[in-house]
Amino acid sequence: MNKVIAVDGPSGSGKSSVSKAVGKKLGFLHVDSGALYRIMTYLAIKEGVDTTSPEAVQTVAEKCDIELKVEDGAIKYYIQGRTLGDELRTPEINANASYVARVKEVRDKITELLRSMTKFGDIIVEGRDITTVVFPDTPARFFLTASAEARAARRQKEEVEKGIAAQSAEEVKNSLLMRDKIDSSRKFAPLRKADGVIEIDSSNMTLEESIEAMLSSLPSDYVA
Ligand code: C5P
Repeated sequence: MNKVIAVDGPSGSGKSSVSKAVGKKLGFLHVDSGALYRIMTYLAIKEGVDTTSPEAVQTVAEKCDIELKVEDGAIKYYIQGRTLGDELRTPEINANASYVARVKEVRDKITELLRSMTKFGDIIVEGRDITTVVFPDTPARFFLTASAEARAARRQKEEVEKGIAAQSAEEVKNSLLMRDKIDSSRKFAPLRKADGVIEIDSSNMTLEESIEAMLSSLPSDYVA
């Protein structure tokens, strides 16, 4: 049985950078579950679907066919032969993804896809419901947090570095807090810290310190 490291946390908590680095160090494939919710959101917007209507969003989930490929230490997603990159990180997708992610059919489809990924090898999966719903039984489960200020500052820095910054620091913070609110209060698979997970608060930690905190808390057979 291949191993799974499950990592949950709100936007900008450092999940992505820490998961990628830990995966690389241990030879675990990195899995970004948020990108799957973003792909569904992208398709819904492209088709002119009202993202606040669960019935309309459900039809997008039913039609959507996502192909998986292992590339550069990660599992990548292809839609009709092409991958999506920065077009998944726009303010419009940020603002709509949490609505799409409330829909049960969307969650069921993505959960099934994520569980199937263990066939590719050992994986480190980051998201909002990985420790609670997708892989609740894995012995390596983490909850990453950071203050709202630290998270918004990181997100905005990332967007500036990628050249896709379209919002002020205040707007980034408001969008992030709005998403957290919807993600934490939804009916299906809300973001929450599960019992028994290891919490890492990265507000005052460097990236290297957060990576070290995760590596030093893993079961011994994960790091051997
Ligand atoms: O992680 P990222 O910010 O890319 O996720 C985008 C959105 O996808 C989140 O705000 C959340 O609504 C949804 N999501 C989720 N469950 C996951 C991963 C992401 O509901 N496991």
